[in-house]
Amino acid sequence: MTKNIAILPGDGIGREVTAEAVKLVQIVAASRGETWNLEEGLIGGAALDQTGSPLPDETLRLCQAADAVLLGAVGGPKWDHLPGDKRPEAGLLGIRKALEVYANLRPIQTWPGLLLASPLKPELVEGVDFIIVRELTGGLYFGQPKARLDGGEAVVDTLHYTRAEIRRVVKMAFELAKGRRGRLTSVDKANVLESSRVWREVVEEVAASYPGVSVEHLLVDNAAMQIITRPKTFDVIVTENMFGDILSDEAAVITGSIGMLPSASLGEAGPGLYEPVHGSAPDIAGQGLANPLATFLSVALMMRHSLHFPEAADAIEQAVHGVIEQGIRTRDLARSGEAFVRTAEVSAMVCEDV
Ligand code: ATP
Ligand code: MG
Repeated sequence: MTKNIAILPGDGIGREVTAEAVKLVQIVAASRGETWNLEEGLIGGAALDQTGSPLPDETLRLCQAADAVLLGAVGGPKWDHLPGDKRPEAGLLGIRKALEVYANLRPIQTWPGLLLASPLKPELVEGVDFIIVRELTGGLYFGQPKARLDGGEAVVDTLHYTRAEIRRVVKMAFELAKGRRGRLTSVDKANVLESSRVWREVVEEVAASYPGVSVEHLLVDNAAMQIITRPKTFDVIVTENMFGDILSDEAAVITGSIGMLPSASLGEAGPGLYEPVHGSAPDIAGQGLANPLATFLSVALMMRHSLHFPEAADAIEQAVHGVIEQGIRTRDLARSGEAFVRTAEVSAMVCEDV
């Protein structure tokens, strides 16, 4: 069966890493004796420059008709002076909202060969393997009213959720936990926020359908500490939009390798959106130095969650593992003075092993 995959390179190193990922996807398709339809669309600064919009209608249509969307990264200094709704990042918020991808999955794992890259002690982070599930289309980021009041002397943002919005993302987290080590941590601020008290109620209600999954509730401030003090003990963490935004960056840092972290954003139906966690890295863009492995691991998530091709996901993850274990390092992973390989070289090695 043919697959339609929308490729949105975006800006900076987003263009370099998606170019390599396209090769990887084509290799997977060829291994099945198929030719998949990969079509590029404009987003972010590149789209602004060419069309005046960070998310042109044509890109939206392309994505809505696809089985999955692979995105590089958006933004860069060239567009930093623009107002909020005209910035490249508005394209990213727009595509998430349009595809209704309400659950953002961020797998956090450490790699045996890269433990020294972590700011934490190696024994603390060895074997870390958990997933943060962040609610992505509700909460403070979208709730209305959101406004300056009294001539700018007061201001309001609104943390709005329906029970249905909470239930669907919590269910997805339970499903993931069920397929993993069976431990779910729900993070909230139930001692202060009404929205968090309802969040907890919904988690307890959904838990009744998952007797094999153990549930713990952590307050977000406590969770922020425990991600540092006992990262190995987490399996699946589920939380609302802003808490998830903050905790997933904190968790990314403990792995020490932002160039290795993938993400998936999933909805009820329709295409999933897959992207590396890192940004457009203007400091190294255009130099062939970017680490493409976060994007490759995002392709693996795409194979698993949108294309229903788990063997390909496993094969990609194993190939990435293989090059890391062999000591292959892009510049971001190399210690000072250590030799490093370029984007195209590490990409070719993984593609050969898949
Ligand atoms: P954004 O606001 O889009 O998140 P940022 O500048 O905050 O952008 P990144 O673009 O992720 O964050 O870059 C942070 C640092 O990590 C930069 O020094 C960048 O060069 C480096 N970096 C990020 N991703 C990679 C990668 N894939 N390969 C190599 N280095 C990377
Ligand atoms: Mg950033």
